[in-house]
Amino acid sequence: MTTSPPQPPQNPYPGQPGGYGPPPEQFPQYTQPHGQQHGQQPPQQYQQQPSPQQAPQQGQSFPQQGQSFPQQGQFPQHQGQPMPQATVQCRFCGGIPAVQATVRGHQGMIVVMRFLKLQGPFCRTCGIASVRDMTAKSLWQGWWGIGSAIVNPITMLMNLEPWAKFRKLPEPAPGAPGRPMNPGKPLIQRPAIAMLLLPIALIATIVVINLNITTPSEAAVGSCVVNKGSATSPEVDVVDCASSEAEYKVVGKLDNTIDDSQCAQFPGYEAAYTSEVGSQRYTLCLGPI
Ligand SMILES: [Zn+2]
Repeated sequence: MTTSPPQPPQNPYPGQPGGYGPPPEQFPQYTQPHGQQHGQQPPQQYQQQPSPQQAPQQGQSFPQQGQSFPQQGQFPQHQGQPMPQATVQCRFCGGIPAVQATVRGHQGMIVVMRFLKLQGPFCRTCGIASVRDMTAKSLWQGWWGIGSAIVNPITMLMNLEPWAKFRKLPEPAPGAPGRPMNPGKPLIQRPAIAMLLLPIALIATIVVINLNITTPSEAAVGSCVVNKGSATSPEVDVVDCASSEAEYKVVGKLDNTIDDSQCAQFPGYEAAYTSEVGSQRYTLCLGPI
């Protein structure tokens, strides 16, 4: 490609100075013998063609006029002819227009994780198909592992950028060398989308479990406990008094002391649990259920 002045129409790739030529949406007018005039531009060369039927083919290679390549796709007369080499073609179907992008996926496998990457250029169809496919895979396979559960949502969010890029592209011009990928259903219509709820459900479960664990320091008089440790190193948990686990009932509680002799004031006292963590001290006076 050169920047020399317009070549005769017989040259399929006339070099054009940058910025030269009509706006892309007016390209089809080159096929009209009496299309619009463009001021100082010499499209008359093309309009003077004896055979208007040939005009589309010449016009097809014409949109190099300082336009960025993807805009070629707006040109409707694509007929599967060899495309200029500098054009960005879809890596998968060869279609134009195409944009460079990277679509990502993630697989978590408990200890290892796998980062999936699909590099373009992509046409609109193959790009959207890739984003949907990789994101659906991540939705199923991306959560399995602590690191993966963190990486996976980031990976899926990173696909938003290429997705927006692809959606801005026009439909690929007909006549691409290969068949574009099948985009399938939008993600929102796939069962995989339900997997988005998995981390939310997991977090909710953890929160609920933590809310329901009552530490001995929170044990109220009348609640029940079990000692899962030994007499010398007790591990006291608060449990439901109706459960078979329940071992003692808290008959009294003494704050700021580990002097269990004061438990004698509570009727039914038969054991005590004392705890001293830092400056926090308390004593649970325990009796039979
Ligand atoms: Zn494609």
